[in-house]
Amino acid sequence: MKRTGNCSCGNVAFSIEGDPINTVFCYCKACQVASGSDKFYGVWLKPEQFSVIKGTLKSYTRIGDSGGELTYKFCENCGTKVCGESSYGIVTVAGATLDNTDGIEPQMAIFTKSAPKWAVLPKDMPLYETMPD
Ligand SMILES: [Zn+2]
Ligand SMILES: [Zn+2]
Repeated sequence: MKRTGNCSCGNVAFSIEGDPINTVFCYCKACQVASGSDKFYGVWLKPEQFSVIKGTLKSYTRIGDSGGELTYKFCENCGTKVCGESSYGIVTVAGATLDNTDGIEPQMAIFTKSAPKWAVLPKDMPLYETMPD
């Protein structure tokens, strides 16, 4: 199954193919900053499942909490974070940028230790204080 998504201004469009490896609410501080909220909804894919179909993504790289490199990719015009790529070979697409997420509900919540005190953690999925193995 193929799904499409785009940034807020529409300059960048992409598609994803097939079932995600995992679907995750991440409450780490970097994800809070990136999403502007208490968590980030990430759809984890293999790199070959993700393709840009319109426009170009700008990127920057930082060292993630797990010690590996993380490269964020975002629209140069509106700044929407479309995806992140880890040095472990996983592409995390921002769930919010997908046109339709029916059938790809979050399966777990990670880094709940870093969640703000006011966050309402989900009750119907496994919660992990940090990154599960
Ligand atoms: Zn944009
Ligand atoms: Zn995170």
